[in-house]
Amino acid sequence: MTYPTQPTASHFINGQYVEDTAGTPFDVIYPATGAKIATIHSATPAIIDQALAAAKAAQPAWAAMTGTERGRIMRRASEIMRERNHDLSVLETFDTGKPYQETSVVDATSGADALEYFGGMAATLTGEHIQLGEDWVYTRREALGVCVGIGAWNYPTQIACWKGAPALACGNSVVFKPSETTPLCALKVAEILHEAGLPAGLYNVVQGLGDVGAALVTDDRVDKVSLTGSVPTGKKVYAAAAAGIKHVTMELGGKSPMIVFEDADIENAVSGAILGNFYSSGQVCSNGTRVFVHTSIKEAFLKRLSERLATAVIGDPQDPATSFGPMVSQRQLDITLGYIEKGKAEGARITYGGNRLEKDGFYIEPTVFADVTDDMTIAREEIFGPVMAVLDFEDEADVMARANDTEFGLAAGVFTKDISRAHRVAANFEAGTCYINTYNDAPVEAPFGGSKQSGVGRENSKAAINHYSQLKSVYVRMGDVEAPF
Ligand code: NAD
Repeated sequence: MTYPTQPTASHFINGQYVEDTAGTPFDVIYPATGAKIATIHSATPAIIDQALAAAKAAQPAWAAMTGTERGRIMRRASEIMRERNHDLSVLETFDTGKPYQETSVVDATSGADALEYFGGMAATLTGEHIQLGEDWVYTRREALGVCVGIGAWNYPTQIACWKGAPALACGNSVVFKPSETTPLCALKVAEILHEAGLPAGLYNVVQGLGDVGAALVTDDRVDKVSLTGSVPTGKKVYAAAAAGIKHVTMELGGKSPMIVFEDADIENAVSGAILGNFYSSGQVCSNGTRVFVHTSIKEAFLKRLSERLATAVIGDPQDPATSFGPMVSQRQLDITLGYIEKGKAEGARITYGGNRLEKDGFYIEPTVFADVTDDMTIAREEIFGPVMAVLDFEDEADVMARANDTEFGLAAGVFTKDISRAHRVAANFEAGTCYINTYNDAPVEAPFGGSKQSGVGRENSKAAINHYSQLKSVYVRMGDVEAPF
């Protein structure tokens, strides 16, 4: 098997690939076969220093360019990403195991969207003028400096771009550490940005585990940290960043609710539940894994869900016909199988799947539990695998309270034809990203992020600009200065 699109070294620093074999090696595993496809070396302290020094040195000149100039380079990079969509998608599939059917329409394309959107916005970033009688204040929207991005493993290209694009648009430099589980794709993002004309040092990639992430977060040269990861990691990174009073964006985990009322279009609700539980083999942070279905339509919903799941094409993720791939790793597979056992032991009823598949790679069936109650482990903890919990309800007020009874607040969805109820429920959800009669759309134009323990800050949209820039107020007095003595 060949991997034509593979990067040539572990790190990308100051405009070029860099290797340091003194770093602890770790293997990159193709989830569909369990085969090793690459070896990456963790960043040594020297590599981390090199990346931060390059980012620090390159940033002022980048911030001094006009937004139009910065944006032009970013939009060129987005065009290159789209031209190479096939190769980037193949690599994303090797890195994550997600089917090419998904990666070819979601990953490099959403990365390119972010570069195009924030590249377009770069020239529009301004401060404001505040008149105070004869005096006035103007604000300057300034870059933060060096931004560190730390990624999860489920969307390696997208995360590298969702953090990099707004940071670069605002005049910052970036040091990105991908997840150790999917380290390959971000290197290609760095390569393409520099091919598009990004000056050396502005987008660097260093590899490693949590210790490398921690070293980046605590370095004095770093002004902002944006993490995509689990809540426990978020608490550690947030605390470490707070010690240096650094800006943060936290995109963390969830256990999001989806409510299907009795008047919902069942076919659409089943589609939403499939998208919100089984896309990317269930490894999506915003998934609606607690599906509350009105008792009057519960059996019809479960029957149609089983019929639809039986049409999933599970197999080689590089085959465009495959619609459901393996999980990312043996570890994530074991975690998921553990939760399935807990679901059974605590009395939930499996209505679909529940088993590991008898083949190489980390394959598991899409799994549905019915008769789930609020206190069961599978209804409370984030599984991050293809396991849907279906819970019954009869009353709107009751289901609303149960939907919000969680420490998480990433996303939430409602399926109903009653327009007033739809907006009332959306308003009452304690979640950062809500859906009415759909699930898991994430266009770059809309803010994305969590409330409660699911996160701080927002990615995408105009809102992201506030998280990658700061305002300086400049007071201008036109007359004499009055002093008390
Ligand atoms: P994780 O928390 O284990 O790791 C995330 C990243 O943090 C990795 O790159 C890891 O190396 C790094 N890291 C670990 N410890 C660190 C430390 N002490 N200091 C600095 N960096 C450290 O998460 P994961 O298993 O890679 O990803 C799955 C999780 O990510 C799930 O909880 C999922 O919900 C969440 N996620 C959230 C979003 C979102 O946008 N809200 C998107 C995707 C995934």
